[in-house]
Amino acid sequence: MPVFLFDELIIGPIHSRRLGKSLGVNLLPTHSKQCSFNCIYCECGWTKGRNALKMDLPTRDEVNVALEKRLNELVGTDAEPDSITFAGNGEPTMHPQFAVIIDDVIAMRNNLIPTAKISVLSNGSMLHKHQVIDALMLIDNNIQKLDGGNEAIIKAINMPLKAFKLNEYVEQLKRIHKNLIIQTLFLRGRLNEKNIDNSISTEVNDWFDLLRKIQPKAVMIYSLDRATPAHELEKISEDELILIAQKVKEIGIEANVFG
Ligand code: SF4
Repeated sequence: MPVFLFDELIIGPIHSRRLGKSLGVNLLPTHSKQCSFNCIYCECGWTKGRNALKMDLPTRDEVNVALEKRLNELVGTDAEPDSITFAGNGEPTMHPQFAVIIDDVIAMRNNLIPTAKISVLSNGSMLHKHQVIDALMLIDNNIQKLDGGNEAIIKAINMPLKAFKLNEYVEQLKRIHKNLIIQTLFLRGRLNEKNIDNSISTEVNDWFDLLRKIQPKAVMIYSLDRATPAHELEKISEDELILIAQKVKEIGIEANVFG
């Protein structure tokens, strides 16, 4: 099964394991990926080097026109979305107008489908920007990636394109913890003849330590669902994910499994 790229600005609604009927907003280019990470499991495929940080993105007006049109088509139908979800071919918060687009979409949602949540699936690499943080604090589901509890496993799984300092990232997450959902994908496998496994107890314990520090309002735990660019990856069983989630709950944090 090949990896795939979204070919539209507005996608769906499609069924999402985590968000229900999800209407996707792709603030990245269609037909190509732009991201600050190069996750070994990315359903969009490998990030193409540092050129992936260059922007060739839809404008604010294009997003507004396309989303309003689609929401108007969906109002009052069985396909009304549960979530308007910023995801797509890369990292949505890299869009330079991300914050004002969030303002626009909140107003549009309130006007047209007030029951829909607004969700952002992010890798957290833009949390040094106060405009991005302010926008994320306004939405319903601020979902940020944390695929491990130490720099070595995060670098092995997410392969950030720029310098990554876990202690700085944890401080950023702590600042937004009151409206923060952590998303963690567990996997095991091999890449370039090295074993990678964030589900073993030592790795999971490091991750618990970070959750204790960050105190998010919830954690989403999930495993592989689609084709991955690295071929020797293995899906972690739902039973294993449930055991991890139970331990998260024991430290007083809500945890949900999407196997
Ligand atoms: S952060 Fe998301 S879009 Fe970027 S490489 Fe990882 S999975 Fe893909």
